[in-house]
Amino acid sequence: MPRPIEALIHTEALAHNLRRARQAAPQSRVWAVVKADAYGHGIERAYAGLSGADGFALLDLDEAQRVRTLGWRGPILLLEGCFEPRDLELCSRLDLWHTVHHEAQIDMLAAHKTNAPHRVFLKMNSGMNRLGFRPSAYRGAWQRLSGLTQVDEITLMTHFADADGPGGVAAQMAAFEAATRELPGERSLSNSAATLRFAGGQGEGALVAADWVRPGIMVYGSAPDYPAHDAAGWVLQPAMTLRAKLIALQSLQPGDRVGYSGAFTAEAPMRIGVVACGYADGYPRVAPTGTPVLVNGVRTRTVGRVSMDMITVDLTPVPEATLGAEVTLWGRGPNGSLLGIDEVARSAGTVGYELMCALARRVPVSVV
Ligand SMILES: *Cc1c(COP(=O)(O)O)cnc(C)c1O
Repeated sequence: MPRPIEALIHTEALAHNLRRARQAAPQSRVWAVVKADAYGHGIERAYAGLSGADGFALLDLDEAQRVRTLGWRGPILLLEGCFEPRDLELCSRLDLWHTVHHEAQIDMLAAHKTNAPHRVFLKMNSGMNRLGFRPSAYRGAWQRLSGLTQVDEITLMTHFADADGPGGVAAQMAAFEAATRELPGERSLSNSAATLRFAGGQGEGALVAADWVRPGIMVYGSAPDYPAHDAAGWVLQPAMTLRAKLIALQSLQPGDRVGYSGAFTAEAPMRIGVVACGYADGYPRVAPTGTPVLVNGVRTRTVGRVSMDMITVDLTPVPEATLGAEVTLWGRGPNGSLLGIDEVARSAGTVGYELMCALARRVPVSVV
């Protein structure tokens, strides 16, 4: 029998969350962001749920190839653009749209031989200081690109640094608007947080939503601004469940210690369960005692260190739990129970993004 751990990908949840993105920005087209192998869900596994998108945005050429192999004929956008000249050949061959964020990428394009001009997304560094042309250099880059026979349409693009936080999008919106005022072309600005928090409606909301939104994390059912909102608060459904079973039980006496370095000590008699899931499965090793977990759909907590192949959980709230009891690490549990990946992530000092992306290869995955 295989080790009792598995991940489930919920096709209907992906489709639902994608519809939520459309609802939040009803005038915009929607890129489903599927970088990092669809945030750990697997591009092939997520495809059925996300095929209602207007396009797929990602980073790796091999992922773009995989999306084409799935039969997708629509737009595909490379969010970091090309890394070397021969990437442009694949863009021509697979009809990929690509981001241009620095001068060297324009040089590569100028030297590229193609019959079919490329659609490019010209990225502005509107304040995040990662990728893109500064506002003062943006128009120059646009002019240079628009003079190339290798380029047809230019979409204006930026990315928000704090759409999920107190900073919001106002300062970057102002920088973007000022520098693009007289430029033609479509626009794409918003990630999940900006789409949920600031898009929609007329006026400023319509400017934030623009022509294309780029939701990633919300499509997978995690709240970009947790704990200000949780997934249910944004009416999102978890697209991934990680579940395992109890493979051993222990009865502890006061003073008994659990796991490596004995990081947890029982203060009273208690029962714990040993779960077939550890950091080699993608469960965060730094998750401390007290991280929430469901056993038979009942909420309890981890105790002691996470080890490579196992974690230990407090069975006090689930006295009936026996060997083989179902343990939900995140996602959907039995009887309609739910454990948000964001809650687990927060306990481990990280974000839902990292946990879903870290799902390990050794965990078998089924699509439901
Ligand atoms: C990853 C990414 C997104 C999606 O961000 P989420 O926070 O997951 O919605 C959007 N745009 C760009 C440029 C990205 O790199």
